[in-house]
Amino acid sequence: MPISVARHDLMRRMNEMAVLTVLRQHGPLSRRRIAQYTGLTKSTVTVAVQRLFAKNILMEVGTINNGPGRPEVLLNLNPTAGYIIGAGIDVASYHVVLFDLEAHILQQYLASFEANASPREVLSRIAADVKRMKSLIEEREYWGFGLSIPSVISTEGDVIYAPNLKWADVPVKDYFVNLLGEPVFVLNDADAGAVAEYFFGEGQKSELLVYLTLGMGIGGGIVVNGDLLRGTTGASAEVGHMVIAANGPLCSCGRRGCFEALASVRTLIERATRARDAWEWLSLDEIVNGFSAGEAWAVSAVNETVQYIAEGVTNIANIYDPDMIVLGGPLARLGPYLEHYVQSHVSRHIIAANHRRIAIKITSLGQFASDLGAGAMVLNTAVDTRDG
Ligand SMILES: [Zn+2]
Repeated sequence: MPISVARHDLMRRMNEMAVLTVLRQHGPLSRRRIAQYTGLTKSTVTVAVQRLFAKNILMEVGTINNGPGRPEVLLNLNPTAGYIIGAGIDVASYHVVLFDLEAHILQQYLASFEANASPREVLSRIAADVKRMKSLIEEREYWGFGLSIPSVISTEGDVIYAPNLKWADVPVKDYFVNLLGEPVFVLNDADAGAVAEYFFGEGQKSELLVYLTLGMGIGGGIVVNGDLLRGTTGASAEVGHMVIAANGPLCSCGRRGCFEALASVRTLIERATRARDAWEWLSLDEIVNGFSAGEAWAVSAVNETVQYIAEGVTNIANIYDPDMIVLGGPLARLGPYLEHYVQSHVSRHIIAANHRRIAIKITSLGQFASDLGAGAMVLNTAVDTRDG
């Protein structure tokens, strides 16, 4: 392809993506307002809108009267123009969901697998479920597939190393591309959570969004102006292993005093079990219930853990200078208490605190967030692959 044609295609694609982005963030909008938000000329917007209409990605949703002159037509995304399948692997379980372009879930499926199941076995079971869901929709309505895995994922979509699953060097993306065709996206679970927050959750207007999953470990994902920050090997934002207490407790990675060795679900369980002098490990349910009931052992264990979370989040705020940090994973159940504590700590302790405001939010996307996020990567390719 000659360079001038390639450049023209790229410009057209960027214009169409810009229109889609402002509609997702601010829609419904008139063409005039789209031009204001994107900074594109009205004629460029008209061309982009025409092409998106031809692809069935936009729809008219009414009119608005702005003073004299003709009423303006309001445009928005057509949520049922296509369907995406997302899946997520956890330790010993997986889920698959079918959803539309606004993340309404039409079908969901959950299953468990043996802890020592081979990657081939787990992937083939997921593939069978994905094919079954795909058969429910028409071929032209299927937009693609995304899978989230608690693993370092290479930029080619391979599992490099998944410590909790004990998987290493698994070419996951190739496997699904062979079965389903493109597009297929394979993401680290925290990265997928970050993408989900950007497309569907708290961070839709965020320029630099950090998402943290607070679970048995702590992972991070970062979205900058709509793009996932992957790092050079795919292992960016491994914030769980930043040291926040030199000579602190031993971490699974071999160092001492890592963020996740002080602020994960595992450490909360250890603290609460010790504080209560219990004979068996307490469950997170028991701890959250005890905390809600104001029981001293639970309050002290939660407080100590939340203090470490706040310290870690403040470091992250200073390193990345985000406008929003979303907290997800099992500890998001601590809800407003966690949100307020971390918000006030960050607001007091970030550098240049007088000049910036960083919003701390608890995720609102629920248990399928990372499935939605992995699948949402498909939306970035939508303007390329749709017929127009
Ligand atoms: Zn560590």
